[in-house]
Amino acid sequence: KSMNKDDAPVIEVKKLKKAYGSNQVLKGIDLKVNRGTMLALLGPNGAGKTTTVKILSTLLKADDGVVKIEGIDINEDPDAVRRVIGLTGQSAAVDELLTGRENLVMMGELYRLTRKSAKARAQELLEDFDLVKAADRPAKTYSGGMRRRLDLAVSLIAIPPVIFLDEPTTGLDPRSRLAMWDIIRRLMDQGTTILLTTQYLEEADQLADRIVVIDGGKVIAEGTAEELKSKVGNDRLEISFGSVTDLEKAEKVLGKAVFDAKPKDKSLTVIVKDTNTDIKNTLNALADQKIKVASIDVHKPTLDDVFLTLTGKTDNRSEEKGDK
Ligand code: ADP
Repeated sequence: KSMNKDDAPVIEVKKLKKAYGSNQVLKGIDLKVNRGTMLALLGPNGAGKTTTVKILSTLLKADDGVVKIEGIDINEDPDAVRRVIGLTGQSAAVDELLTGRENLVMMGELYRLTRKSAKARAQELLEDFDLVKAADRPAKTYSGGMRRRLDLAVSLIAIPPVIFLDEPTTGLDPRSRLAMWDIIRRLMDQGTTILLTTQYLEEADQLADRIVVIDGGKVIAEGTAEELKSKVGNDRLEISFGSVTDLEKAEKVLGKAVFDAKPKDKSLTVIVKDTNTDIKNTLNALADQKIKVASIDVHKPTLDDVFLTLTGKTDNRSEEKGDK
């Protein structure tokens, strides 16, 4: 790992703390995001992602710690911070009664664009976000995916240099999620510095330059997607059998490769490093012993696996599968 000898990071967070009553939600979070890169803040529900984003966007006051955006301390000059950020997600403001276009133009004027350039920018965003057909319908008639796209478009009207995307795809169907990813990638191409929060490992993997994993208000891991995945391990091959006898035979044949066996489901799990060869070898080994396989299923590492591995709560099987 090499130190970044870049200028000051665009987003810099040190020892950020926040409690709601006796609930210590952030227990000292450190973050750095360099110019033109995306950092994904990855964590399960309740980890403290939204709280972090709210503090960074000046909507909520921290109890302790330092936050600087573009070198500006949020406590010293929150107005200046608001001018450089775009925020979208749970707190973004779309007026339901206005049309998509009206929302965009209104927000543009709020950001002191002239009416003419607000209209031009609105049209541009409607096209980019595939909202041209719906542009002149009230936002309340939009589907979930369209609503999210409008939300994001509104926050981009003034092309902010820094943008916070708070769980932009939570609850979206897979197709809308892919469309949103495309949009986010285009933002990145413009050189925008992005902090994205997500519950989905895959989303962080697809989009972010770096990932910080938080759980229970603390950073539990950080690095590139590759670095994190190498900690988590690999794909898992789940094999089920017609009988417990077959399962037991298979356990003997596969030996140490077996990560987990579930007699109740007549199934076992094997960790695969090289998906193609390992699956083939595993199935061949079973076939050689005439053990019949009822079904197989390949699982990609999930966020659960990341947490299990990172927090060490894998009831000590992780040691065995460790480095084979
Ligand atoms: P995430 O975005 O990762 O799901 P949040 O930042 O929304 O997590 O929430 C972190 C914790 O803070 C949760 O336990 C949540 O219940 C609590 N929390 C969030 N907002 C409030 C609030 N306004 N009042 C009290 N507790 C809150």
